[in-house]
Amino acid sequence: MGMKAKELVIRAGIDLDALLKELNSAYCDEWLAYYQYWIGAKVAEGKMFALIAQELAEHAGEELEHAEKLAKRIIELGGTPAISPDLWLKDSTCGYLTPENPDAMHLLAQNIQGERCAIEVYEKLLNMVAGKDPITEHLVREILEDELEHEQDLEDLHNSCNASAKTCDPKPKAGRK
Ligand code: FE
Ligand code: FE
Ligand code: MG
Repeated sequence: MGMKAKELVIRAGIDLDALLKELNSAYCDEWLAYYQYWIGAKVAEGKMFALIAQELAEHAGEELEHAEKLAKRIIELGGTPAISPDLWLKDSTCGYLTPENPDAMHLLAQNIQGERCAIEVYEKLLNMVAGKDPITEHLVREILEDELEHEQDLEDLHNSCNASAKTCDPKPKAGRK
């Protein structure tokens, strides 16, 4: 913990407990997003699965970096990042979408939903700190920028797939849900 880090936030009129709660929830979201992408990249199948799996794996790494940055700030502010995976689902805002259907198009749709939720989370956090806590504001802006890019990357893949019926068939394989 940094004494001054905490002091500056409180002096700026921010409810520190409320901020830590939101940061921790976002931290839990990031671990779930990381795993959803990571395992999605492993199980992906169907048309264009290799290309899509590559993007999912890349995003997994970026979600883990977000978790890293959030943990650092939570500790700096005297909080404790979720210390058990039990808390990830419990304290998460966006939850976890199990990739039961490994079709790459279905995985994309699930992850787009996750990114849209993440964008809402960081917009809310930004509103809490904007103009008051420059350090958290900077962190949240950086992550928000990444999440917007993630959403766009996945949408582009989804659209290019749908636009080209010959190379991309969004229908799941027979026998799958
Ligand atoms: Fe993230
Ligand atoms: Fe993301
Ligand atoms: Mg990307």
